[in-house]
Order: sequence, then structure tokens, then C-alpha cells
Amino acid sequence: MAKLESTIDVQEIRKDFPILSQKVHGKNLIYFDNAATTQKPQSVIEAISNYYKTENANIHRGIHSLAEKATHDYEETRKSVKAFLNAKHAEEIIFTRGVTEAINLVANSYGRAFVNEGDEIVISTMEHHSNIVPWQMLCEQRNAKLKVIPINDKGEIIFEEYLKLLSPKVKLVSVVHVSNALGTINPVKEIIEAAHKFNIPVMLDGAQASSHFDIDVQALDCEFYAFSAHKLYGPTGIGALYGKKELLDKMPPYQGGGEMIKDVSFEKTTYNELPYKFEAGTPNIADTVALKAAFEYIEKIGKTNMAAHEDALLKYATEQLLTIDGLRIIGTAEHKVSIASFVIEGVHHQDLAIILDREGIAVRTGHHCTQPLMSRFGILGTTRASFAFYNTFEEIDVFIKALHKAVGMLR
Ligand code: PLP
Repeated sequence: MAKLESTIDVQEIRKDFPILSQKVHGKNLIYFDNAATTQKPQSVIEAISNYYKTENANIHRGIHSLAEKATHDYEETRKSVKAFLNAKHAEEIIFTRGVTEAINLVANSYGRAFVNEGDEIVISTMEHHSNIVPWQMLCEQRNAKLKVIPINDKGEIIFEEYLKLLSPKVKLVSVVHVSNALGTINPVKEIIEAAHKFNIPVMLDGAQASSHFDIDVQALDCEFYAFSAHKLYGPTGIGALYGKKELLDKMPPYQGGGEMIKDVSFEKTTYNELPYKFEAGTPNIADTVALKAAFEYIEKIGKTNMAAHEDALLKYATEQLLTIDGLRIIGTAEHKVSIASFVIEGVHHQDLAIILDREGIAVRTGHHCTQPLMSRFGILGTTRASFAFYNTFEEIDVFIKALHKAVGMLR
């Protein structure tokens, strides 16, 4: 396949990411671990340092100028998250450390309010451990059952099997929008519509989806949506949970402490309103403020342009990978993002990763926090190359050459 013309100037874009010009083991860094975390543009790095240089203060309670400025910027990011997800109200956006904390919040709070003995929670085979373990913990506490939607050999949800799991006993469906290990884009609109026929709320894990295409929680009509900023060219340690207001209003606080209260006495505490009810303690202010810079950067490049380049990289990489003897792609869904996961006969992924690292190539190997999914495919792990809009076709050529060499050495 020809290396498709890109709608973006990748060489220009790469200058925005200081880390990409690094050498690793004397070789140009080739960063293909974007599904684990993305690199940060200069504007995000500067937003973090500017915050500490010019406005650091604790938010919400202070009257002084710095506190007002920090509070203003923190709340401005909430408005940008609202716009990013197309939520109806800013108070439907709760800042969390990321997707993991968002799911734990829902499992603990929604779970405590709505899940009882004999109830069921539905997830899928391709979930990240972050969307398995909190539900297992909840099911154990409440004597509820975890039900799992099976997938086919391409790594797609088997929809008829999903429909069979739906019943009035199900109190929540929680599925990944895009699989981190396979790249599969799930038919979430249909999943939500089917669940809503039984009045079942749906939570979507948007860790991987949010960087690849526009998210519209109103059009999806999901009850909960979570993303992590670090997978979106933003800082680590910050993310958000979207929840429909009418549901969040009925849910008890997840953590107790400062900010989430209205009044405290030793006899009784009354809770703050949304979204503060769910934001106990001093939050991650600097990184929240910098998240806005990440949104602005994404907007400047344009998600459609980013996705078009990433799709072209995936097509090219897939074709080239299949030239390697004994290589099998794990995750061949019809609808995929730019994630190429594979196994190579007679080659252990860990050995492969070590050799690739010596060539300056960063890929992820192992179970990708999806051990049940690996078991479904009868493997212990894969090698995963995940591409971002700042990656190039030339990097893929170097990667493929290094793979051929590594396979030659390891077989
Ligand atoms: N869900 C998916 C699909 C992921 O890829 C990840 C991270 O790899 C997570 C959840 C957890 O995200 P975080 O570690 O940012 O909380």
C-alpha cells in the first residue's frame, strides 16, 4: 500500500512535542506506546509550569486574588470538559484522577445506592482491569453477579449474546468504548439503546476513544462516561467522570472530606451540591488547568485530521506487519482505532520488546491490563504498537525492519 498523503504536516507538529526529538540508546526515539500514555505538547507543559509560577493557590475557599484566579481557571477547564463531551450541564463533570478513579466512584456510589443482592452488572470480555475489578469488588460486597458479554475471534462483541444478558436484574452495563488491547470500536450507541429498553443505565470507559474521535454524551445518551487526560496529550493524574445530573443527584458521596460538605457538626454532615459533592479534598489543580491547554491543542490540529493520519498509519503498519513470518494480529475488528496488537510464533513478546528498545522503539508488551481478554485468545500477552498523529510512515519502516531483525535473532 502507498503511504497515503496526510492532511497534516507531521514534521511541523513533531516540533510541538519536545520529547520526540530525544535519542534512546543512540537512536531516534520512536514512540509507539500512545495507548498507554500520549506525549505532551509544549503548550501543555507550559500551562503546568505557568500555573505554579503565576497563580498557585488553593481553590474555592480563598478570597485573595491568587485563589480567585486559580478557582476561575479550574472551573474554566470544567466548562471545556463539558464542551469536549457535549454535556448539558457543567455540574455533570466531576474531576477524578482518571478513568480508574471515575469507575471506582460509580461502583462505590451508584453501587451503594442501587445495587443489591441478586442484582447483576454487565461488562464485556475486552475490559481493562479498571472496568472489571471495581465491579467484582462491588458484586462481592452486595452479593450481586458479574455477567460478561462474549466476543468473537475478531475481537468484537457478540451482540445477540449481549441482548440475552439484559433483564430487569441488571443494574448497570459498563463497557469500553474502544479496547486498549485490540483497538476495537464498540457499537456503544446500540449497546446503550438496548440497555435503555430495560431502563438499565450505561457507563462507558472512554480511556482510548476520547483521543480518536468526538464524544457526544447527549447523542450517545449514556449515563456515565470517563476519560483520562494523559491519553489525550494532557497531564497525568487528571481526568473526568461525566454523569447525568438526575442520577448523580441521587448518588451518595464517594469520599468524605473538605469541599464535598455544606455543613459539618459531630452529629450530622450535609453534603455540597454537584459537582463538589464528589470532589473531596484539594484537587489536582495545576493539571486540571493544563488539561484546557490539551483541548486547545487538539482543537487546533483537529480530531478528524488526527484520526485520518492515524488510520492511514494503522493500514500501512498492518500491511507491513503481515509480511513477517508467523505474525498474527490480535484484534481484527471491522471498526478499529490505530492499535496494532500481535503475536509472533516462536518469539516471546518480552524478548522482542527488549530488542526493540535497543533500537529506540517504545512499544508495549504483556497483557495490557486485560488478562481475561488474553485468556479468551489463549495467549499470555501481545506486542502492541499504538500510533498517534505525530507518528510517521518512516517510523513504521524502521519498526518493521527492526522486527525482521529481532525475529531473526530470537527464532
Ligand atoms: N480503560 C482503558 C481502556 C485503558 O486503556 C486504561 C488505561 O490504560 C484505563 C481504563 C485506565 O486508565 P487510567 O490508568 O488513566 O485510570
